[in-house]
Amino acid sequence: MAPARTRVNSLHVAVIGAGAAGLVAARELRLENHSVVVFERDSKVGGLWVYTPNSEPDPLSLDPNRTIVHSSVYNSLRTNLPRECMGYRDFPFVPRPEDDESRDQRRYPSHREVLAYLEDFAREFKLVEMVRFKTEVVLVEPEGQKWKVQSKNSDGISKDEIFDAVVVCNGHYTEPRVAHVPGIDSWPGKQIHSHNYRVPDQFKDQVVVVIGNFASGADISRDITGVAKEVHIASRSNPSKTCSKLPGSNNLWLHSMIESVHEDGSIVFQNGKVVQADTIVHCTGYKYHFPFLNTNGYITVEDNCVGPLYKHVFPPALAPGLSFIGLPWMTLQFFMFELQSKWVAAALSGRVTLPSEDKMMEDVTAYYAKREAYGQPKRYTHRLGGGQVEYLNWIAEQIGAPPGEQWRYQEIDGGYYRLATQSDTFRDKWDDDHLIVEAYEDFLRHKLISCLPSQLLES
Ligand code: FAD
Repeated sequence: MAPARTRVNSLHVAVIGAGAAGLVAARELRLENHSVVVFERDSKVGGLWVYTPNSEPDPLSLDPNRTIVHSSVYNSLRTNLPRECMGYRDFPFVPRPEDDESRDQRRYPSHREVLAYLEDFAREFKLVEMVRFKTEVVLVEPEGQKWKVQSKNSDGISKDEIFDAVVVCNGHYTEPRVAHVPGIDSWPGKQIHSHNYRVPDQFKDQVVVVIGNFASGADISRDITGVAKEVHIASRSNPSKTCSKLPGSNNLWLHSMIESVHEDGSIVFQNGKVVQADTIVHCTGYKYHFPFLNTNGYITVEDNCVGPLYKHVFPPALAPGLSFIGLPWMTLQFFMFELQSKWVAAALSGRVTLPSEDKMMEDVTAYYAKREAYGQPKRYTHRLGGGQVEYLNWIAEQIGAPPGEQWRYQEIDGGYYRLATQSDTFRDKWDDDHLIVEAYEDFLRHKLISCLPSQLLES
């Protein structure tokens, strides 16, 4: 559907969060002539990528009254996607001629480089001037046809303001989900969630069990092997009878899930192996959490399904005044944030027309039915994975943008495959140089870079 170019409204819009999603939302909203206030409770832009050595006092983050530390980034973290496909389409994540030696030019750079990239993006498009730092949104609720936003600054001063629309970009990697482990209440060891993991020192000479073997689990278990006596990964996707020693280290094993844990400190895996462990590290993901949102029960979060949401973005009865950027996972995050933001900005200005509330609800219902028919649990509602190309290209079509580039989709597919099959080497060894060349030629063609970065293409 081509965007309808009829009336164009300029609205007053609140964006919650100045991470990768909030920054691009602010840019796209302003490009569409809306006036924008970005609320950010931290003192700088970057969200998750603002590393801090501090973690929460409660290592499992179960206490609802704990002091929140937003970032889940650990010190050794490097991106899990190649940088060419990871960046925004309009501002590729590439080494630039003006970069100094403090920058990390690797294809899978460290978290510091991602933050530097987001700071570059904010500087390039003068986004910081829209951000109100150290200001937390504590309440968002409808007020007639508009939205009340209550915020609190670092001096504790509250302010109520009225906006035409609110775009929620508060991130979803801060509220940990902890695995249910039979017997855990009487197990005497320590437990920590990956949200609170920063460096491996505390695991020196320990036997550690890491639950979960996706991006964080695979990384953290390898980070710990350098100091720990033994590291055992419990993985839901590993068949129940298997146990294997993983390549690249002499003290790392992959098991099936944990069967039970016991008062004597033992941990029994479904494969029958037993270890005496000191610590369990839960790399078991996060929960969507919108503590500030009051929609009188219209929007709920059940088993990590936020709904009802049309295409993961618009609640049908409240659209387009309320929208969410960045909920889907297992996808090209920054690229998706950019497309979703363009869609929201255009829907608010009236350049793009959303379907009626009923039609949007029909779509949500059909999507849920499809998920169930495929036997997918509810908590996978926002997992795109194999459906990402269709989803991203569909949004691109709504806003009259070209579909995602083939090299971009091929890079993420190959990247995820390497992550799953070569978790010890995937960031430094790859076999898709031709895609790097295609990506950079594309950037050059669109005048997004001024020259090809020979150091990266030669590596
Ligand atoms: P965030 O970056 O979390 O930003 C949300 C912002 O909202 C924060 O600044 C926060 O302070 C602010 N905020 C929250 N609540 C409020 C409030 N009430 N009031 C005011 N401000 C508020 N993606 C990739 O593409 N590549 C990777 O390599 C990669 N690695 C990852 C590694 C880890 C360990 C994790 C957890 C995720 C990773 N991701 C990766 C996914 C990553 O989350 C996204 O790339 C992206 O950075 C998320 O951006 P966001 O803006 O949605 O959220």
